[in-house]
Amino acid sequence: MVFATVPRGVQWMYSVRGIVGPVRFQRSVPVSAAAVLLIGFSLLLGACGTVPPGTAGSPPASSTGTGSSPGGSSSAPPSSAAPESPSPTPTPPASSEPPERPAVDCKKLKCIALTYDDGPSPGTTPELIKILKKYKAKATFFQLGNLAAEYPELVKEIHDMGSEVANHSWDHDSLDRKSVDGAYMDMKKASEAIEKACGCRITLMRPPYGATDKGVDKATKKLGLAQILWDVDTLDWESHDPYDIKSKVLHSAAKNRIVLMHDIHQTTIDAQEDIIEGLQDKGYTLVTVSEMLGKTTPGKRYPKSWAHYGN
Ligand SMILES: [Zn+2]
Repeated sequence: MVFATVPRGVQWMYSVRGIVGPVRFQRSVPVSAAAVLLIGFSLLLGACGTVPPGTAGSPPASSTGTGSSPGGSSSAPPSSAAPESPSPTPTPPASSEPPERPAVDCKKLKCIALTYDDGPSPGTTPELIKILKKYKAKATFFQLGNLAAEYPELVKEIHDMGSEVANHSWDHDSLDRKSVDGAYMDMKKASEAIEKACGCRITLMRPPYGATDKGVDKATKKLGLAQILWDVDTLDWESHDPYDIKSKVLHSAAKNRIVLMHDIHQTTIDAQEDIIEGLQDKGYTLVTVSEMLGKTTPGKRYPKSWAHYGN
């Protein structure tokens, strides 16, 4: 039984993007000014510490070009400049308490990235969130823009627990069938909805059905999004069999692999406790795609096996 995937038969699969690139002040400014800027900015962002939503359409040159950390979520700004003003300057609200998320080094650890596409879905996603929290596992959710707009609280909860939200198009059209501008506009709209919901900046996308080509490469590059395909396809949408889904994941698991599933199927959710326990028993650390890949390049496809697909 071999489930490791090859970019083949992808016409029936799915995907997304989305990560957070912490904003960094590159220039050194006087501490007091930095502190003021920092607090003001944090308040503005609701403690997310990431680029404000709504910037998805702008070329990422400035924001993503300055090296987002692999950790992705940390809202830790550059200098830990403690406000030195004598007045009781309030610290930024702990409303978005960054989840305890020690930095992971996937060069040393046995990492694996579980990914869930096509949500968020109020019928199934909340249960998955509970399971991930229970096992202190992180994952990446490639979401549809129209659903993110309808269920923003689920997007935010996923982000707030330290998992990653990413773009999976507005409503699951095949982006390779659109013009470059059409694909760009579709993903831009989706990014805006997701970023508005999470209060964060996303940097990853997964093309629906894995359908990518040079046009999608161009559109994603322009949007500052790296394309994340997968290594292991569970075919969960087809089997609807928790045991089969679990078996595929556990038998195909390997260090630094990306696993494709969908959080819109109850049968997939039913497999998750066994999958996560099984992986953790084998010594895996469950991380987000951004934690595993580190800094990604907009427009580029990951993993490498997808580099020449669709052209
Ligand atoms: Zn999909």
